[in-house]
Amino acid sequence: MKSFEFLLVYCILFLFDLDHRIFSQRMGNTIRVAVMGEDLPELSNRVELDDQMSDSDGVSSPKINYVESENSKKLIEFGIDRAIEVLGAAGAKSIHHDPLLSAAGWHLMGTARMGTNPERSVVDRFGACHDVRNLYVIDGSIFVTAGAVNPTSTIQALALYIADNLKKSSRFLGVT
Ligand SMILES: Cc1cc2nc3c(=O)[nH]c(=O)nc-3n(C[C@H](O)[C@H](O)[C@H](O)COP(=O)(O)OP(=O)(O)OC[C@H]3O[C@@H](n4cnc5c(N)ncnc54)[C@H](O)[C@@H]3O)c2cc1C
Repeated sequence: MKSFEFLLVYCILFLFDLDHRIFSQRMGNTIRVAVMGEDLPELSNRVELDDQMSDSDGVSSPKINYVESENSKKLIEFGIDRAIEVLGAAGAKSIHHDPLLSAAGWHLMGTARMGTNPERSVVDRFGACHDVRNLYVIDGSIFVTAGAVNPTSTIQALALYIADNLKKSSRFLGVT
């Protein structure tokens, strides 16, 4: 075998073996710590109707405006520092971090926020629309902030709370 061919085979075998060594080092020895933070309800982060783009029925597309705030950045940096401390204390040999995973969970909430002021909110504290009588919204859109964790338990709690109130109101209105 010529020396060049020998070198090539050697390199392939080395890389193949390296792959196996990295795999056996990491397999069953890796742990992931996720840092989740809550964005403050900043006016600049909002959903608007797009005046350029619409669907096939002519309904305007949502336009999402989001800029990561200084507060959110600091919150994530703080969380990453703590996670590095925890992993270091646990004996981690190699620690990597990614400050903002674009493929992480992004929950869709807001746009019909709950509030007492019809100028600044869409539904009242019982989920009834300020502007349209007898129209109730019961889902993640009535949240005023996103919270840092998964929302579904809170959506369910809101649904039960609003349904209880509807039952009380219907009795008051003589509806069965
Ligand atoms: C991949 C993924 C994983 C998730 N994991 C978790 C988790 O582990 N824990 C957790 O708490 N949350 C999780 N979530 C978030 C959670 O699923 C949502 O926050 C929750 O389902 C929102 O409920 P909703 O009622 O607001 O909206 P949805 O559940 O989206 O319900 C909206 C409904 O409206 C219908 N609809 C839309 N447009 C129209 C229309 N024009 N006419 C009639 N009907 C219409 C849709 O078909 C849909 O059924 C996850 C979300 C995703 C995408």
